[in-house]
Amino acid sequence: MKYQCPSCQTELTWQADNEHRPFCSARCKNKDFVAWTNEENVLPGSPEWEDMFSQDLENHSI
Ligand SMILES: [Zn+2]
Repeated sequence: MKYQCPSCQTELTWQADNEHRPFCSARCKNKDFVAWTNEENVLPGSPEWEDMFSQDLENHSI
């Protein structure tokens, strides 16, 4: 069975003893996990985050 690593899209052969599956490696596994937790933590429409972002943008554009 062939499949692609969800993180880097490398084609892999399914191996039951691959402890990182469905990822190709621990690196991809961690990368995906970090992306997922970042999305979870940055809630869209959260007033705190919007204030921080708008202040940041203003500081950069002036
Ligand atoms: Zn990968």
